[in-house]
Amino acid sequence: MKPLKGLLLAVSVIVAGQAGLAKSATPHVQQAPFGEADGTSVQIYTLTNKSGLEARIMTYGATLVSLKTPDRDGKLANIVLGFDSIDPYLAGVPYYGATIGRFGNRIANGRFTLGGKEYQLPQNDGTNSLHGGTKGFDKRIWSAVPFENKQGPGLKLTYVSADGEAGYPGKLTVRVSYQLRNDNSLAIDYWAKADKPTVINLTNHTYFNLSADFAHSIVDEIVTINADKFTPVNSVLIPTGDLRNVEGTPFDFRKPTEIGARINADEEQIRFAHGYDDNWVLNQPKHGAMVLAATVNDPVSGREVDTFTTEPGLQFYTGNFQNGKPAGAGSVFAYRTGLTLETQHFPDSPNQPAFPSTVLRPGKVFASHTVFAFKAVK
Ligand code: BGC
Repeated sequence: MKPLKGLLLAVSVIVAGQAGLAKSATPHVQQAPFGEADGTSVQIYTLTNKSGLEARIMTYGATLVSLKTPDRDGKLANIVLGFDSIDPYLAGVPYYGATIGRFGNRIANGRFTLGGKEYQLPQNDGTNSLHGGTKGFDKRIWSAVPFENKQGPGLKLTYVSADGEAGYPGKLTVRVSYQLRNDNSLAIDYWAKADKPTVINLTNHTYFNLSADFAHSIVDEIVTINADKFTPVNSVLIPTGDLRNVEGTPFDFRKPTEIGARINADEEQIRFAHGYDDNWVLNQPKHGAMVLAATVNDPVSGREVDTFTTEPGLQFYTGNFQNGKPAGAGSVFAYRTGLTLETQHFPDSPNQPAFPSTVLRPGKVFASHTVFAFKAVK
């Protein structure tokens, strides 16, 4: 469906009072143009919930461009790394806020076998394939339809990935819905169907910095991860296949711990990734059960986010490869100024028979749910 120009789902009420302070508003969705990619116009949608929280999502990459949440004084500010123009995204910034697919994280040597046939994917990370290859879902234009229900305003995005696109078998129809709920959570729901057996691993690659000061490193934020185990990797960040206990390692976040406390530990897994860039095996009562995966707290602003998911894994990445180099249009984010909470199946699952399966067969529906719930604590 073609997006309507200037669409406003409900009349917006401008709340009087100090700018930037969270006050009650009428939830709504607003649409505006946001440049062009591949000769097609890109649209940006602004979702505002009843407390004035605001999420902006563009159709290029089904990308979360900004997200305003309140600090402990009720002051709203953007807490996700992103850009005010499409140019840096087109210049190839690494996945800021994007929807990742067809397969999130790495596939060893970009190769896997399905139904007795070997598939070769683009190798865009050394010899591995990362985040769907050279032109993954983060670089595609999605169609978008805004919606609103009692829970809040939302946006449904659809993309049809052709059979053979980026080396993957089967035509895949994917939907991602963002809803900025009135309970101050951002819900991301994924749905997909394929016409041939394929592999799928969808996630969102938002870099959070709860301080809202993007010059400030995330290392003093406090993290809790609900996982007794993680999947150790080799030197090119491919899982070895083991599930290792976090106990006694810098990966033990079962109790709230400052990120910086062990991020530079002299430990092989930390050295491989130059910090945290690992998949935690979430404690789930059963496969697919929605659990609290992680909590991140910024002691300075009081902002806190709980991440809930039905996915078995969480990639917690601390921006170790951010280097402060301009990525087009003067946009720079320095070392460790963002952290990701990528809910996902485990990296390289197509080559790891012991990991939960990422195969999607025709007639079956892929469904995955993630909720980022925001609050401010004293
Ligand atoms: C990966 C990192 C990669 C980053 C790119 C993360 O999901 O785990 O290794 O560098 O994405 O932004």
